[in-house]
Amino acid sequence: MIQDKYQIPAVSTGHLLRQEAAAGSELGQQAASYTSKGQLAPDALVMAVLKQWMKSGLDSYVFDGFPRTVAQAVQLEPMLAEARIPLEIVLFLKCDFSTIEKRVSGRVTCSGCQTIFQVGLHVTSAEQACPKCSGKLERRADDQPEVLQQRMVQYAQKTEPLVEHYQANGLLHVINGNGEFDGVFAQIERALLS
Ligand code: AMP
Repeated sequence: MIQDKYQIPAVSTGHLLRQEAAAGSELGQQAASYTSKGQLAPDALVMAVLKQWMKSGLDSYVFDGFPRTVAQAVQLEPMLAEARIPLEIVLFLKCDFSTIEKRVSGRVTCSGCQTIFQVGLHVTSAEQACPKCSGKLERRADDQPEVLQQRMVQYAQKTEPLVEHYQANGLLHVINGNGEFDGVFAQIERALLS
């Protein structure tokens, strides 16, 4: 939604890693051995796919699901400095576990156009065709309940320390991510425009 309304290109490291895995690259296969178990991919690997993507030389970005460790945040700084892009804002979408569980269990992605839908909200079932392009809807392998549990453990150990990291430099905006799309996006817009 940020990308569409503000024309700031969004990049999801999770998506980049899944693309690499689907293409069968060495890097993608390595990443999949972690992501399939709900573990974070190694920092070096994530930084490599991101660097590759940033070679496109854009002048603004929304990083989605990145950084996920303090080491990634530290390594991002010189990359942004080199591209002459200041880090302006960090959005922390804070959700209850029950919200996360509900969204993850109902998440389907179109294998054609890659649009993400929520069963019960945008589509009635995971078996129907994509409303946009009639492609096949698929569930992510790492959205299984036991893998999600591991992702939560990794989050608490490795990603949560970033809250303090970005609080310290005053860039962090906490968004209540529990509501519906419009309410969450309204909070995000207020933070972006503040
Ligand atoms: P996501 O699409 O953001 O939910 O990410 C899916 C999976 O890809 C995560 O559970 C991790 O295994 C891996 N991943 C994505 N982004 C990162 C990152 N910044 N650092 C480490 N692993 C990541």
